[in-house]
Amino acid sequence: MSLLSIVIPSYNEEGNIANTESVLRGILEREKIPYELIFISDGSTDGTYEAIQKVSEQNPCVKGAQFSRNFGKEASIFAGLQLACGDAVAVMDCDLQHPPETLPEMYRLWQEGYEVVEGVKSARGKEGLFYKLSAGLFYKIMSGLIKLDMNASSDFKLLDRKVVNVLLELKERNTFFRALTFWAGFKTVKVEYEVQERKYGKSKWSLFSLMRYALSNVTSFSTLPLQLVTFMGIISILLSLILGIQTLVRYLSGNAVEGFTTVILLILIIGGFIMLSLGILGHYLARIYEEVKGRPKYIISQVTENVRGNITGKA
Ligand code: UDP
Ligand code: MG
Repeated sequence: MSLLSIVIPSYNEEGNIANTESVLRGILEREKIPYELIFISDGSTDGTYEAIQKVSEQNPCVKGAQFSRNFGKEASIFAGLQLACGDAVAVMDCDLQHPPETLPEMYRLWQEGYEVVEGVKSARGKEGLFYKLSAGLFYKIMSGLIKLDMNASSDFKLLDRKVVNVLLELKERNTFFRALTFWAGFKTVKVEYEVQERKYGKSKWSLFSLMRYALSNVTSFSTLPLQLVTFMGIISILLSLILGIQTLVRYLSGNAVEGFTTVILLILIIGGFIMLSLGILGHYLARIYEEVKGRPKYIISQVTENVRGNITGKA
């Protein structure tokens, strides 16, 4: 049977590690699926890495790494993909919100020849109204901009080794895992799952971090905001044509003094457009700057003993 690697990004999840490991071990041993668990502690400041080390000593199928600081979930996912040795690699959250019972089903589908098995949310779990509203709006905007149903898609996926290698070869630093598997193509199948309640601790997302995540993902997957600048330019030109004609007519008919309000309004509108455009350009410029610097996506400070070599972050 082929080895299944399970990548589990974990940021301040000390209370979840042992439980997640025992639940997964139970299920995978029962289904007789050879496995390895790869916990990536994303610069956790609580006892997460110590908890990973402890389960790794008890269970040789558990590997772990600690980042030198918090690099974000995307970086954890990619570090996990890098360390994974499996023929198939699954990614799931540490808080068991992605039901582990779905894994054997995903594994079966992979054995049948599917190269990307996507977990699709059938319903969002019991999350607060505020979270629902903000996440709802966030996913709507994102879906429109990058043409991918963000509401249902998630990071819960199982990928064939081929797909993992494609993702690892990508040079970009500002990745968006969910959409990248979709972008990569391959023979894909969807599996519905119900989002479970978080087992321990709180969600790491605040409205602010969600918005920052949205912005960075939109700019990494769409150049539409840049085209928006052109659109605003066209509107300005149309407006200036109309007003230009009006001004000329007034001038020629000899009553050109009026129009102070128009001047103020125009300065405000055009100034607004220019500022907004500069902001959009600046955002892309910042992205390019980040990519050009070519810094690693993450830096690993420690790994458990069963992880071979490779201490510092890979591109
Ligand atoms: N996570 C991470 N780095 C971060 C934030 C989150 O690795 O900077 C992990 C976290 O430990 C969890 C998963 O990403 O395993 C999903 O995070 P969370 O449960 O907070 O998000 P939600 O389920 O509310 O979307
Ligand atoms: Mg969660």
